[in-house]
Amino acid sequence: MIAPLTLEQLQQRFGGELVNGSVQFDAVCTDTRKLDAGALFVALRGETFDAHDFLANVDGKVLGIVSEKRLEKSSLPQWLVNDTNVALGQIARLCREQFSGPVIGITGSCGKTTVKEMLAGIFGQRHNVCVTQGNLNNHFGVPMTLFSLAPENDVLIVEMGASGPNEIGYLCSIANPNITAVNNVMPAHVEGFGSVDGIATAKGQIYTSLEPGSAAVINADDNYADYWRGEMPEDVRTLDVGFGHQWAVHPDNIELDSRGCPKFDLVVEGVSHPVQLQVLGEHNVHNALVASGIAHAAGLPVAEIATGLGVSSGVAGRMQSLPGSNGATVIDDSYNANPGSVSAAIEMLAQRDGQKILVLGDMAELGPEADSAHRDMGLLARERGIDQLFTLGSLSGAASVAFAAGHQHEQRNFSERESLIKVLAPELDENTTVLVKGSRSARMELIVQALTDGN
Ligand code: ATP
Ligand code: UDP
Ligand code: MG
Repeated sequence: MIAPLTLEQLQQRFGGELVNGSVQFDAVCTDTRKLDAGALFVALRGETFDAHDFLANVDGKVLGIVSEKRLEKSSLPQWLVNDTNVALGQIARLCREQFSGPVIGITGSCGKTTVKEMLAGIFGQRHNVCVTQGNLNNHFGVPMTLFSLAPENDVLIVEMGASGPNEIGYLCSIANPNITAVNNVMPAHVEGFGSVDGIATAKGQIYTSLEPGSAAVINADDNYADYWRGEMPEDVRTLDVGFGHQWAVHPDNIELDSRGCPKFDLVVEGVSHPVQLQVLGEHNVHNALVASGIAHAAGLPVAEIATGLGVSSGVAGRMQSLPGSNGATVIDDSYNANPGSVSAAIEMLAQRDGQKILVLGDMAELGPEADSAHRDMGLLARERGIDQLFTLGSLSGAASVAFAAGHQHEQRNFSERESLIKVLAPELDENTTVLVKGSRSARMELIVQALTDGN
């Protein structure tokens, strides 16, 4: 935390009841298995556990507690509240209020973590950055990010995820970002939002929550760009970024180097500077543009943005090129999948020389669209000249059928990971690129491990 807070401050601002007086704290912990003697313990209810059940274990081991139930026979200072999850956000909001530097908020269907890491690379050259750790982007993760703010930080970068309406609005009420972007809108987690329009509205809360004087970076190539412009609060500066040369931030002369990493001239309001990305795929040019728009809105010069983009080496499980068995190249994109990111992966794979193999696990959370979405991926893979498609899981069977239909391709759908690996492994040689992708639940990283073991 930047500066200590007290339970009294919290109670006066947000209500609730103080028991055993107030206490000052400058750290928060939420897990009785990882207690911090100098911290305030917040008892959260999760899907599996209710930390209130373990409260007796914390007595004497922390400075105070935030709880929905009074801890009897204890002298620990306690802030009693109706909902500890809400209280967690309230504490985080006070941490935010202690910070006066730029606060960047990023949401979108995919690429949030990638953009966040690119920004950390850009700002990290000259600033002391506080950034979301890993993928901690929800009602728990965003407060954790704010608790991690330290006095030396001068930029805060917050990834914000949502699986339903109003979640981004809630996260913005905590982090109150003043430079924001929706990276893209794709049919990811549609189940929670009702429709793609619902996703655009929900993610758009990162714009509608902005205070006057803030900046909004808009993916001008997105179908919803006009909609967001129309929803923008007064006195918010907008900056259009995208592939079109008419946008304030755009790329020129895009090429792929021998590894498949894009290089291009980054043009920011007429000023151009060459960029060499260290990550694969043209969709990363888009991610780089959004990161550039944000950095530009924060006042960074184009040359500094370009060099920062050049050092960002990507995030594990997202389009990472690895040496595979028998000299093959394995591209690990196993972190997650939805139709948008699978299309991007197919486009990337299609540009490789030699034999191109796609290994696709089920895409989850697509609701009634699941069957057609998987079929479309199979068709796209065939159209784009992918040589072989291996699929894992019952949903992705539809991709396999579409890929093989009316063609010499074999259907290769597997229900067991081990059987898939057994058939796939002999296909690997120096002339082959295997791209592995699927939703988190498909655990496709285990296939990557098997194909890269010992390399
Ligand atoms: P999550 O919602 O799980 O936090 P995220 O939005 O943080 O995901 P990343 O972790 O950066 O996204 O990337 C997830 C997947 O999406 C990876 O497979 C990556 O290659 C792909 N991806 C990243 N950026 C884009 C993009 N702009 N368009 C399409 N696919 C993308
Ligand atoms: N928890 C705890 N001690 C335990 C088990 C859980 O303090 O022995 C906490 C945990 O840190 C979390 C809460 O109880 O804050 C709910 O746990 P769960 O695993 O259900 O969390 P979820 O990740 O599902 O929200
Ligand atoms: Mg993420």
